[in-house]
Amino acid sequence: MSTHDFDLCVIGGGSGGVRAARFAAQRGARVALVESSAMGGTCVNVGCIPKKLYSTAAHYAEGFDESRGFGWQLVDTPTLNWPALKTARAQEISRLNGIYEGLMSSAQVTRLHGHGRLLDTRTVQVTASDGQQQRLSARHVLIATGGRPFVPEVAGRELVVTSDDMFDLPEFPRRLVVVGGGYIGCEMASIFQGLGAEVTLVYRGEQILRGFDDEVRDFVADELRKHGLDVRVRTDVAHIEADGSDRRVHLSDGHTLSANVVLYATGRQPNVADLGLADVGIRQGKNGTIEINQHFATSVPGVYALGDVVGRKELTPVALAEAMALVDHLFGPAPGEQARQMHYDHIPTAVFTHPPVGTVGLTEGQARERFGAIRVYRSDFKPLKHTLSGSTERTLVKLIVDDASERVVGLHMVGADAGEIVQGFAVALQCGATKAQFDATIGVHPTSAEEFVTLRQIARR
Ligand code: NDP
Repeated sequence: MSTHDFDLCVIGGGSGGVRAARFAAQRGARVALVESSAMGGTCVNVGCIPKKLYSTAAHYAEGFDESRGFGWQLVDTPTLNWPALKTARAQEISRLNGIYEGLMSSAQVTRLHGHGRLLDTRTVQVTASDGQQQRLSARHVLIATGGRPFVPEVAGRELVVTSDDMFDLPEFPRRLVVVGGGYIGCEMASIFQGLGAEVTLVYRGEQILRGFDDEVRDFVADELRKHGLDVRVRTDVAHIEADGSDRRVHLSDGHTLSANVVLYATGRQPNVADLGLADVGIRQGKNGTIEINQHFATSVPGVYALGDVVGRKELTPVALAEAMALVDHLFGPAPGEQARQMHYDHIPTAVFTHPPVGTVGLTEGQARERFGAIRVYRSDFKPLKHTLSGSTERTLVKLIVDDASERVVGLHMVGADAGEIVQGFAVALQCGATKAQFDATIGVHPTSAEEFVTLRQIARR
């Protein structure tokens, strides 16, 4: 019999922590989970879920507009009831919080409310909001505390908000300035522009969405501008000042922007404050992320970490997969199954801009660097819907093929439902599909997705 209270103590009730706790408990482990606030972490509370709900809300606006081309007559001008949207979102999020709590109790995970801190490598101290403390010991400790927004030192920093605040803004921002051209900056800018705000996106680099395929970046930036978003690249913020209840954003190019709200979406940092990491000797990397090996083990035996706090790929499905691989490693695979390993190739991802971006595999630049000889197939076109909708939106599809193996090594899309479409093709890339196998696949007609299996013309080598 173990001398520890638990086999596993998980600190953090987000996507990765909950998945690890639940699966470990299913393997018969005695599990505790420590979380100080609502269950579900960033994804459920202030990330993926509310973002996608607001993105859906924003898509209605263009839907109303475009419906006229299909014979609909709008008797009244539709208007957004911001408080109603916030209430509907809040109700859904608290329903999900309850489901996550339910998952813990039905898996017989001991749920502890409070802040977890390592006292030594096998002892966690939990401090509740009323100051009460308790200690527990565990054979293994998992740190899955996620991350939070990072705002750089800029004069007027106290006047800005982060993505955590955007879903519950007291007033709908008629004029919004978004700083940062990554996932969150582009999504929030696009969503609030769709909901009816006048939005300026300010990005310091050459083109938004650094890390994505260059052609995709140019294409989506053009589309966002066509939708009315003011995208300003090679522009930085000099300082921000208050102007009554509004904000004045002074840009490096001498221009000034006036806004109700300034959103800083300038990246995220790991949640590592007051976890006792330094006291127990856990090595940390750049920006405080926890260093781990291929089995998620930190530099200290018995302590593991995964998800956003290790900063590998800050995506919910990645944290879920990491959690399942860790559980297999610690407690063995489920009966009849093989232990899962974490692979970071072929991770599909979407940016929920309007139109959205979907991508899996390598960018053209990465593929050229890795394989040398590659072929690029691409097409951009007006989707069928927009022949009547009046919208000038275009869709881009792009395949990158390695000459030597004939495999499709990168697949990219900018257009409606890109995330949904790319999810299916990710299976094909995961299986190592060749261009000939794409060509042999029958299309679903009439769809945008069929373009991926009808690309015959090489755009460039
Ligand atoms: P990103 O790293 O994607 O983007 C940060 C942006 O802020 C970049 O444009 C960066 O510029 C800019 N920036 C950084 N520091 C400064 C600074 N000091 N001054 C001005 N600009 C600055 O971070 P996000 O916060 O947008 O998202 C974090 C992660 O969360 C993503 O990487 C992604 O993994 C995940 N995520 C996933 C989503 C999805 O799956 N749909 C949605 C939202 C988030 P530069 O490029 O020059 O560094």
